[in-house]
Amino acid sequence: MIQQKLREKAKELLSSKTVDLIIGYGSWTLPLRTTPVFIRAPEGVESLVWNSFCENNLTTYLHKFSRLKVGVVVKGCDARSVTALGLEKRFPNHRPLLIGIPCQRMVDRKKVKKAVKGEILQAVEQGELLLVKGEDFNVTLKREDFLYSVCQVCTHRTPLHADVLIGDPVEESPLVDLHPDVKALEGKSPEERWEFFQKEISRCIRCYACREACPMCYCSECFVDSSRPRWIEKSLSPSDLAFYHIVRAYHQTGRCTGCGACERACPMDIRLTHLTQKLNQEVKGLYGFETGIQPETLPPLSTFNPEDEQEFIK
Ligand code: SF4
Ligand code: SF4
Ligand code: SF4
Repeated sequence: MIQQKLREKAKELLSSKTVDLIIGYGSWTLPLRTTPVFIRAPEGVESLVWNSFCENNLTTYLHKFSRLKVGVVVKGCDARSVTALGLEKRFPNHRPLLIGIPCQRMVDRKKVKKAVKGEILQAVEQGELLLVKGEDFNVTLKREDFLYSVCQVCTHRTPLHADVLIGDPVEESPLVDLHPDVKALEGKSPEERWEFFQKEISRCIRCYACREACPMCYCSECFVDSSRPRWIEKSLSPSDLAFYHIVRAYHQTGRCTGCGACERACPMDIRLTHLTQKLNQEVKGLYGFETGIQPETLPPLSTFNPEDEQEFIK
């Protein structure tokens, strides 16, 4: 069983002092959720869990522990974040040790909540089924009907460049090439797409949870907080909201691994990955580049070649 093997490996790594700290997933009091756990002693490994609710991208915590030798539990998307961060020289002291687990695709708890009437008190995973209980209901759901949209389009579920792989590699193919909603947007005119984008971001309260959840957002001073120069006002005006979201999306272009952490963190349910999925697809189509696959290749927007095509400035 994956969870047992994970605990054994974590114990071995901590006992041998190969790592000082292990960041993994632990169970939580709320159903359909896990919580990050930070384990420093071998006896702590019993709190590690592995299930379809291990959705967080834990690599976002690596920035806080740069002086320690850290082992981190990663899925495919998370491992790609580490490779991308390594290219940006984020690990000058110790490269994190990646404890990779091939990912079974994660379950979107909001979709499960919508499918039942009333508060969920217990949710148990049994193979491909989810047994969900509340005060007045007791239902069995098919796991595959409740996957995150980013997980449906995910290709690289087996963590690349992992130091330890727990479990067998899984098939490298998406369930769908592009989320149907993103595909539908593609067919719309620029005016209709802009209208969709403006409507979506009009709910933004600028809490920056999306930024905090993203491993690729690590600047000590984000452009939104800078006062010299001041790039953006603190308001919720349509132009400030658009500026934040457009700049954030461009900062992620060629760096986003499509983990979906930003969208999950958003308290306003803004469909942030509609934009990032499309940008990822464009970068792949134009440059044949996918974030965090090649440990030696810089993202296309982070480098240039004098021979690059310049059609856009003709
Ligand atoms: S994006 Fe891929 S690797 Fe990441 S949680 Fe979803 S299926 Fe797993
Ligand atoms: S922008 Fe969102 S989907 Fe992309 S890496 Fe950051 S958190 Fe993950
Ligand atoms: S998490 Fe949502 S509401 Fe908060 S800043 Fe990001 S998009 Fe806006």
